[in-house]
Formats: sequence, C-alpha cells, structure tokens
Amino acid sequence: MIMKDTQRHDVVVIGAGAAGLNAALILGRARRGVVVVDAGEPRNAPAAHLHGFLSRDGLPPATLLELGRAEITRYGVRLVQGRVERLDHGYSVSLAGGQVLQARRILVATGLRDELPDLPGVRERWGKDVLHCPYCHAYEVRDRPLAVLGTHPGAVHQALLLRQWSDDVVFFPHTLDLAAEDRDRLAARGLRIVEGGIERLVVEDDRLRGIELTDGRAVPSVAAFLFPRMVPHDGLLTRLGCGKDGGGLVSTDRSGRTTVAGVWAAGNVADPRAQVITAAGMGAAAAFAINTDLLDEDVDRALERRRAQAATTL
Ligand SMILES: Cc1cc2nc3c(=O)[nH]c(=O)nc-3n(C[C@H](O)[C@H](O)[C@H](O)COP(=O)(O)OP(=O)(O)OC[C@H]3O[C@@H](n4cnc5c(N)ncnc54)[C@H](O)[C@@H]3O)c2cc1C
Repeated sequence: MIMKDTQRHDVVVIGAGAAGLNAALILGRARRGVVVVDAGEPRNAPAAHLHGFLSRDGLPPATLLELGRAEITRYGVRLVQGRVERLDHGYSVSLAGGQVLQARRILVATGLRDELPDLPGVRERWGKDVLHCPYCHAYEVRDRPLAVLGTHPGAVHQALLLRQWSDDVVFFPHTLDLAAEDRDRLAARGLRIVEGGIERLVVEDDRLRGIELTDGRAVPSVAAFLFPRMVPHDGLLTRLGCGKDGGGLVSTDRSGRTTVAGVWAAGNVADPRAQVITAAGMGAAAAFAINTDLLDEDVDRALERRRAQAATTL
C-alpha cells in the first residue's frame, strides 16, 4: 500500500551516518523542515572504536551516531527508520513498505559496501583484527607482527604505509602478480615477502594468530590488513540519472551537487576515501549549498508574489 506524505519537506536526507547526520544538524539549525531516512547499517559498525576524529578519538562508532541522532532531534529533524528504494523527479522518496515522502531537495548519504576477499576468517574478523585503514587502526597494533594480504593492487601502497607502525610487516602476494619494481620497493622499505596462496586466517580465543598458507606454513600475525573493493551505494542516484565521472563515481561539485538539479551526494557514496570526519565535512558542505539553493528559490517566489500583488493594485 502506498502511504503518501502530503507535507513537502524542505530536505529529505537518505542515510544517517556521519555525512547525513552532520547535514541534518546544519539544516535543522537553519530551521529547515528535514526528514532523515536510515537503514541502520553504517560501514564501520564492526569496529569497536573510532579513531582520527578530533575530540571523539576512541569512541565506539555507534556512540558517535547516537550523539548525532540526539543532536538533530533537538532541532526538530525527524528520523525515520527504513530503506529508500526509489527516487523520482519532483522529488518523491519511496521507502520499502510503501511510505512516500515529498521533498524540495534531496541529499543522498548512503555510504558504501566493502567487498571482502573470499578467504576463511576474513569476514568474521573484519573490523576487529582484519583491517583496511592504517590511519584508523594501525596505532593500536604498533610494533607487533602485521600481515598485508595481496588481494587487491592497492595492497602494495597499504603495505609501504603500514611499515610506519611496525618493523615486522609481512606481505603475502597471494593472487597478486607483483611487478619487479613493487618487489624492490617493498624490500627497500624493509618488508618481508612470503610467497604462496593463503589457505585461511588462524583464529584462536577470538584473536587472529597468523596466516596459514596452502602448503601448511603459518606466519604469526596479530592483525591482517587488506584492501577491499569499495562499492558505493549509489543506485538511487544513478537510476535517477546522475552522471558519473571517469573513475566510476557519481559526479559532484565541491558542495556535493550532482548533475541532477536538486540532488546532492555526500560521504562515502561520493568519495570512498572519506573518513568519518571527512564524511561529516562533506555533509556540512552539502547542507550549506542546499540551504542557499532553497533560499534562492524562496526569494524568487517572494519576488513573484510581490510583483503579482503590485500588478493587481495598479
Ligand atoms: C571496519 C571499519 C572501520 C573504520 N574505522 C574508521 C575510523 O576509525 N575512523 C574513520 O574516520 N573512519 C573509519 N572507517 C571509515 C568510516 O566507516 C566511513 O568514513 C564513514 O562510515 C562514512 O560515513 P557515511 O556517512 O558516508 O556512510 P555510513 O557511515 O556508512 O552511513 C551510511 C548510512 O546510510 C544508510 N543507507 C544506505 N542505503 C540506504 C537506503 N537505501 N535507505 C536508507 N538508508 C540507507 C546505511 O544503513 C548507513 O546507516 C572505518 C571503516 C570500516 C569498514
């Protein structure tokens, strides 16, 4: 059954991660009518702690979002739990279950999906001791034996970088055909290269202990880094007709404005490299631009009314 909301909201924000919540905070404080729809699956949910966010370093990721949700509700922003299935020009926002919201502007902040290599142990340990971002999590495993799994070309840079945190970093080329130059760079940086296919991650007592190879060898390690394939949740945008850039990402200007008028994107859906603080900043930038766009429309309408009134009194 379709349940159409007759009220036209100034902005519907899709996604209540750092990007969507920070946008909603600014728009709510600007006294706009805002609804945030969220499916409740933030990308960093598997991690116990969030790092690199000024004044919030070490906080559980869920706590940051709880604080954000409490802040936006203080300014009258409505939060709806649900999944948006479709956007239509105009703009209507259709949720699973039939609810339809009307909006003057839309911000899509739906994040991305990390596609992980199909190796036993990787999925279970993801965000715990299978990690991808040295800036987020390497400090906590500094000076310990670390592994880098060569399941993506990005792993070479990741390994070179990770060496900043430990003298004991082992690179497993696994399925990667390492170029001679990359081998030289890794060796020059003091990394050990261990050849052979990876069989599984050795996990005991709820902790990663090492990497087991198909020939039975095992290399001790307290954390394994890998580079996932990051797939933006951009289907809502592309189905609406938003253009993409040469790198396959939704095209936006610096404020997050897409190629479809009235539609913005912020956070990992637009930039997979964005950290939590960057995603929040992108949300803020989008909120300022959306509010300015609404202001221009408000002024144009007021002018039209004023001119029409003047014409009738002549
Ligand atoms: C394991 C792990 C650990 C990390 N640790 C750190 C760290 O320590 N520090 C750091 O800065 N960064 C860290 N990151 C990166 C961080 O997760 C991202 O930078 C951040 O989540 C991006 O915020 P976002 O708002 O763009 O997306 P998200 O936080 O992923 O939020 C997107 C939201 O949109 C919702 N959504 C998606 N589709 C729909 C839909 N159709 N309808 C309604 N809602 C929808 C999702 O359910 C989700 O709640 C980590 C990432 C991972 C994977």
